Amino acid sequence: MTDLRSQVEQLLAGPRPLPIVTAGTAVLRQRAEQYDGQLEEGMLTQLIEAMRQTMYAAPGVGLAAPQVGLGVSLAVLEDSAEIPAEIAEPRERAALPFTVLINPTVTPVGNRSALFYEGCLSVPGYSAAVERAADVTVSFTDLAGTIVEADYSGWAARIVQHEVDHLNGTLYLDRALIRSFSDLPNYQTHWAGASGERARAGLQF
Ligand code: ZN
Repeated sequence: MTDLRSQVEQLLAGPRPLPIVTAGTAVLRQRAEQYDGQLEEGMLTQLIEAMRQTMYAAPGVGLAAPQVGLGVSLAVLEDSAEIPAEIAEPRERAALPFTVLINPTVTPVGNRSALFYEGCLSVPGYSAAVERAADVTVSFTDLAGTIVEADYSGWAARIVQHEVDHLNGTLYLDRALIRSFSDLPNYQTHWAGASGERARAGLQF
């Protein structure tokens, strides 16, 4: 197996945005190795910048290293949340600044949960409803090497849980209410409403 440094060198020598691997690729199903300085600082910074560009280009609100074929515990997040208020409010979706997560672990806080549709850049063309904790604490290392504990709620908590799942070899479909599974044209035409009630009634999940 090629070591991480050679893999990253090869990836950074290629085009931007980085190619995103899709479901059925083994790296998406493996637990990512901890990042403990396998890359020199400049290379880590370049990789994070390339992941950031790839997330923007997709576009997406999060991207984990396994999605660009790297089995290492790194992810980037950012959500401008520029969507209509009637969609944002029930989802508690507010702007999330650009964040780098190194070796994150996530712990639910309290008992609140939320059930909403989500999608994944590695499962293009589909969407499904996933129940997730609405409030979480995340421990991670940032790009400066500082250990951070941060609380996230609402949609940001969903994004963080989705990305940390990627680092543990889990796809959102593993957690989805499978009867809610919808292709994007159907989702956008019929189910992308404010509350999700219509989808629950229509698809009976
Ligand atoms: Zn994903």
